[in-house]
Order: sequence, then C-alpha cells, then structure tokens
Amino acid sequence: MSKGPKAIIVVCDSLRRDLLGSATPTLRKFAETATSFVSHRAIFPSATRVTSASIATGCTPGRHGLHGNMMALDDGEGPVAYSVGKPDFVDRLRKMTGRTLRCPTLAERVSDRGRAVIFSNVSPGAAYFQDPNGFGYVYHRAGSFGPGRVRLPDEQGLAISSGVAGDREMTERFCRHLRSREFSLLSVLWQSEPDWTAHHHPLGSPTHLAAIRSADDNVERVLNAVRLASVSEDELLMVICSDHGNETIRRQIDVNKELAKAGFKAEASSRDIVAASQGTAALIYFSRPALQKAADVVAYLNDQDWAGAVYAGEDLRKIGMEPEGGLWIAISMAASDGKNSFGVTGFSDLAVNPEYAEDVRGFGNHGGLGPNESQRPFLMIKGPGFAPGEVRSEPTSPLDIAPTVLRHLGLEVSGMDGMALQQ
Ligand SMILES: [Zn+2]
Repeated sequence: MSKGPKAIIVVCDSLRRDLLGSATPTLRKFAETATSFVSHRAIFPSATRVTSASIATGCTPGRHGLHGNMMALDDGEGPVAYSVGKPDFVDRLRKMTGRTLRCPTLAERVSDRGRAVIFSNVSPGAAYFQDPNGFGYVYHRAGSFGPGRVRLPDEQGLAISSGVAGDREMTERFCRHLRSREFSLLSVLWQSEPDWTAHHHPLGSPTHLAAIRSADDNVERVLNAVRLASVSEDELLMVICSDHGNETIRRQIDVNKELAKAGFKAEASSRDIVAASQGTAALIYFSRPALQKAADVVAYLNDQDWAGAVYAGEDLRKIGMEPEGGLWIAISMAASDGKNSFGVTGFSDLAVNPEYAEDVRGFGNHGGLGPNESQRPFLMIKGPGFAPGEVRSEPTSPLDIAPTVLRHLGLEVSGMDGMALQQ
C-alpha cells in the first residue's frame, strides 16, 4: 500500500442530524472519536446532484455552474429543463455549453499524486459530477469509468440496485478496495440510503429507520475495513456526512401549470418560462423575450402561499446561485413546523416534476431552504487535528469538505468558496 496521507469521504444520503440516535449506534460511537460540526448546513438547492458537484469542487452552484437536480439549457429556442440525474447529462451539458463543471474537482486536484476512487449508488448524474472529466475511477450501476473517462468492462463495473441491498453490496466492494494495495489517496462512498427509502415512506417510520440503520451498518463495515487496512491514524482523514436533510411533503404544486394558469406562460409545456423542479424548490428560467415578465412573475410568486422564499436576479447570489443561462428566479417552497405521525418535525410543499408526477404526500423530500432539509445534515471528521468527541458550532457546509480534504493531503487550497476547517 502506498504511503502518505489519505482521505475517505462517506455520505449517508439525506440522513438528518436529529435522526442520529438509536438507529445509528456506529455513528454515535464514531462521534466519540471525531469532531462533530453541529451547525452544518446544506447548500441551495438542498439536492443530491448539485451537492455532489459542490462536495467535489468546494464551490457553490453559481460558481461550478451545475444549477440543481434539474437544469434548463437553451439552444436558442427557449429553455428546456433536463434531469441532471440521467447518465447522458454530462455529455449534453458539454455539447450545449462547451463545459462540464467550471471548477476542478477533488479527483482532478489529486490526480498528480494518485487516482480518486468513487463508489456511488445515487443517480448517475450525482455520481458522474464527482468526476465529470475522468481523472479517477467512478463506479456506478449505469456505467463505471476509469481515467480518461474510459468505460470499464462490465465485469469491473457495479451491477447493483438502488436501496439497502445495493448499498451493502457497494460497501463490501468499497471495503475490498480499502484493504487492497490500491487503497487510493482519496476514496469516496456515497450511499443511496436513507434517501432512497425516505422518498417513498414517512420519515421516522419503521422502514425509514431500517434504512438509516443499514446506512449505519455500512459505516461500521468501512471502519472495520480501515482497521484491517492498518493505515496509520495520523495519515487518515475520515469525513462522514449527509448531503442534506428532508421535510415531509404536504402539498404538490405544478409550478409550470400555475404559471400558465396565471397567464405568464403560453402553456404548461411552453419554452418561454420554464420551472425546473428541485423537489421542495424550483428554479425558473426565462427565454430572452420572456425576461421582461420577470418582475411580474416575482410579484405573483410572492402572493402564492406555496412559495416560501423567492430570490430573483442579483439576489440569487445570496443563496450561492448566479443569474445566468436564463435562470432568474429561485423559489424555496413554503415550509411549516409540526410533527408527522412518527414524531419527525417539518413539512414542505413540493414543486412537482411532471415526469414523476406520483403522489408522494406524507413522504420525505428536499431541495429548498426549509429548516429540516437545509439545516439538518450532519458532518463528522476524524483525523489529525480533529479532537475526539469535540462538538463545534461554527457554520459549516458541504463546500468546506474539499478544502479540508486537500489541506490534509498537503495539496493547494485555492479557488474554492468553502474553507478548510481549522484544526
Ligand atoms: Zn441527497
């Protein structure tokens, strides 16, 4: 095994900080050996694909240029909203804009010293935006890639399902990687749970708690593998976190339909003004001629009880976004307090994605600025300089992970919006 500092990032997708407890014995124990950041906040939108790009780059969406889980692109005929999660979106973005992310990823930044190895069981887009230009290895069920973005043969790929069983299989494979001679200087494991289950079950329900438990069990497998890999403690940084929290869905709103009903759009599917759903948030893109309606749309949205916070134009910068590519308005859907039937706090309205217009009321979702989705992810860091059992309350976000990892690896920390967390 190669010598020198190493870093491991483990993501338990959408695991809320307030749900760490009896279902997470491993994380509770890990906290005794790590520093916990208890004011950790998600980025906006609090969605997986865009957060993956921000964890990889240490940059806000406004800077790295991936706007959300859905993003509209304009070929000159008006914006069209595309799912960033589809396997071909990286290529579509490159073809239509000449770029992927505007900021280098961790995989690129470490590539002079070694190959990053990334295992991900979330959407293809969330996996591929860890390393869209192919500096390291990305293993995903939709296709695995090596350096140069060369597709790996199927027998080296990751033929697994989303959810508990697939996460376990992926983790066992990841553990074999950690125990092998190829243990890389940066290894990333991104589990689909408990997010996969939360989208189709009530938060805090026995099924959701079982998914949380399974994510916790996988953390235990990783910790055991690290022990067997016998990597020196003062050379290893372990970052264990979630990307965002979630809220319980109260109402489902088709923002495109509402804008058409209000007379701003020719019809729900027209390309003049396009709302791209981010779960409990929406981004609104304008064609050039339609932009003159933007101020009226903002005034209309501010009157709607389903629209919580509304940001437009230059104000997008306050939430880490940039008015570019037709994007002019971001809405965080209305959120409220109260507990669901399993005692889990927080409700929000959902901006429906017409492609997946199923009834998900009563289940978990995220994307907006609601307190439980944006303020409740967790972050624990174990390694040299991070005091065991310490609890720190300074504000942190997924943007801080890349600089913290780079500093540990002895690499340059520059050009990022996040800060290396001070030891
Ligand atoms: Zn997520």
